[in-house]
Amino acid sequence: MTDLAAFAREKGVKYFMISYTDLFGGQRAKLVPAQAITDMTRDGAGFAGFATWLDMTPAHPDMLAMPVPETVVQLPWRPDIAWVASTCVMEGAEVAQAPRNVLKRLVDEAASEGLRVKTGVEAEFFLLTPGGTEISDPADTAEKPCYDQQALMRRFDVISEICDYMLELGWGAYQADHEDANGQFEMNWSFDDAMVTADRHSFFKFMVKSVAEKHGFRATFMPKPIKGLTGNGCHAHISVWDLEGRTNVFANGDPELGLSERGRHFLGGIMKHATAMAAFTNPTVNSYKRINAPRTISGATWAPNSVTWTGNNRTHMVRVPGPGRFELRLPDGAANPYLLQAVIIAAGLSGLRTQADPGPRHDIDMYAEGHTVKNAPKLPLNLLDAIRALDADSELKALMGEEFSASYMKMKQQEWNSFVSHFSRWERDHTLDI
Ligand code: ADP
Ligand code: MG
Ligand code: MG
Ligand code: MG
Ligand code: MG
Repeated sequence: MTDLAAFAREKGVKYFMISYTDLFGGQRAKLVPAQAITDMTRDGAGFAGFATWLDMTPAHPDMLAMPVPETVVQLPWRPDIAWVASTCVMEGAEVAQAPRNVLKRLVDEAASEGLRVKTGVEAEFFLLTPGGTEISDPADTAEKPCYDQQALMRRFDVISEICDYMLELGWGAYQADHEDANGQFEMNWSFDDAMVTADRHSFFKFMVKSVAEKHGFRATFMPKPIKGLTGNGCHAHISVWDLEGRTNVFANGDPELGLSERGRHFLGGIMKHATAMAAFTNPTVNSYKRINAPRTISGATWAPNSVTWTGNNRTHMVRVPGPGRFELRLPDGAANPYLLQAVIIAAGLSGLRTQADPGPRHDIDMYAEGHTVKNAPKLPLNLLDAIRALDADSELKALMGEEFSASYMKMKQQEWNSFVSHFSRWERDHTLDI
């Protein structure tokens, strides 16, 4: 185990940022001088849970964030500070609804069945002006801007700085590109254990936003920040291994597209629970402007509308790009990094336990020929639809944890209520003269 005080001495760290992620994916932190880190590691950093999205009241006792030393990362852009993820505890017990605790429990559950889920995420983002309303590069106007070499090079300073940091951190960064929307980028690093990926995904969002700010821009992972343009996806690639991490259990055998029988069952669980999963993978009001969306200016949304799977074809919810893994294209940039991994494991374990069948695959262009597929459930049309789908899925709620699920749905219902109580310009435009 890493001794944080020794880490600080060795690396010249003066401050630790003890961080946790709330139900809405917000990262909360206390800044702790290195001189105090030993006590904090023992006693935890105190937070009033109600002040963040955790379904607590102002009367709740203090929540303590206990640093998890092996997650420590020295900020490459501010080496006098180190970030560390934490376990949320209250009165001696782990907080049931804290997202990292939910994931920890599911990782342990998979391990008790001899399985290790390994994932990679593709967290797309836009670089905007500081006000968040315009694309930062006024010359980035192509109709098909994907892989635009010139536009990528105009943001080289930001992208290469982030890539250098990922290399320095040993994440196995391997590519970066301009994505399908004007102002949109993607950077990829290697897959790893679900918890490692979740911690890196959290840190990646923090790092991208910080580096963008340093360069005078604003980075956003918002699912659909600009009307008519392709949104921010956060595809997850998934494989399952034995506990030693030596054998990919999705890859042994080759019944269909190089997915083993267990791979098919895991996928079957994802297909079965997909509409309910959307409450986690697509957790905001804005998420539903990315899925089920009309065609974008570039020609395709690259986001799914229904619960279907296929081979190497990007118009479906699940793509099997090659043997031994599959890609879930449903999640968007608003997905909570921990709950995203947790719900993948939960749905997958359900599929393995019930030997779920993913159903037939459809090797068609879903955007052009989707209407020909019978019996494929439509993805939720809005956040309320998703919350209701989750509420109807008792099995998934139980797997995610009853207490957690109740808290999550309560907070999300409040968010929906807040949205519908907002009096919009659209209503006036469409109703005033009725
Ligand atoms: P895409 O073709 O979907 O754009 P990317 O190269 O952008 O793919 O991202 C692929 C992600 O999948 C990376 O994070 C990569 O490490 C991860 N990945 C590759 N192989 C596996 C695997 N066997 N299991 C889990 N993730 C994987
Ligand atoms: Mg105070
Ligand atoms: Mg990609
Ligand atoms: Mg992409
Ligand atoms: Mg992808």
